Amino acid sequence: MKIDHIHAFTDNYIWVIRNDTEVTLVDPGDPAPVLQYLHENNLILQDILITHHHWDHIGGISQLKPICKGKVYGPNNPAIDGIDIVLKEDDKFSTLDVNFKVIETPGHTLDHIAFYSKEESLVFCGDTLFSGGCGRMFEGTYDQLCNSLQKLATLPDETYVYCTHEYTINNLEFVKSIIDDDDVDDYYTFSQNKRNKNEPTLPSNIGLEKTINPFLLQKIPENLKNLSQVDCFRELRIAKDNF
Ligand SMILES: [Zn+2]
Repeated sequence: MKIDHIHAFTDNYIWVIRNDTEVTLVDPGDPAPVLQYLHENNLILQDILITHHHWDHIGGISQLKPICKGKVYGPNNPAIDGIDIVLKEDDKFSTLDVNFKVIETPGHTLDHIAFYSKEESLVFCGDTLFSGGCGRMFEGTYDQLCNSLQKLATLPDETYVYCTHEYTINNLEFVKSIIDDDDVDDYYTFSQNKRNKNEPTLPSNIGLEKTINPFLLQKIPENLKNLSQVDCFRELRIAKDNF
């Protein structure tokens, strides 16, 4: 098993779980680059995993489902056409011999779920946790998104974080503006080098995020340290929205 990526739109990654002959896709928002990838690598589409209902995550379902050998897995949201297996918290399933557990992560949207594999030590977290940041709040409350991020923060430090967008540089520029910290500066330099070579900064991992991502609330600015978790989170999210 290996994880590959397909670029889509301006900064989306469609994550690909693959073996020698088959692939399972996470959030195929655009069918065109997926079809090209399958063709060029002579691969068969096994399953599709969906984290939430936004168009840049589900846009490929209708065109890809007819060539999908298996199932489309996704959250309980009737607004998403084509889901075969509706998932909720703690549901378990496997695709291409990888076992996944579902973690509900509302906040960015109300239907948002993440896919966690303990054996493979990875999580596909959609638009909930980004490297150095987190998703915008479109539907949920600060409480919900804060709680969802805290759930992800309890995963083992070595868990690889596969999020959907290449937002790392912009996120770290915000973090650098509010926290003066060597870990953040070093990771910013590391990420810039990656981007200069046109390589993804992802996957990240939970241990790293705890040291550079204030939205996990482990390393926060001095002036927010007296606030409750959710109040601190709210201040950070508002500041990032205005950055
Ligand atoms: Zn989204």
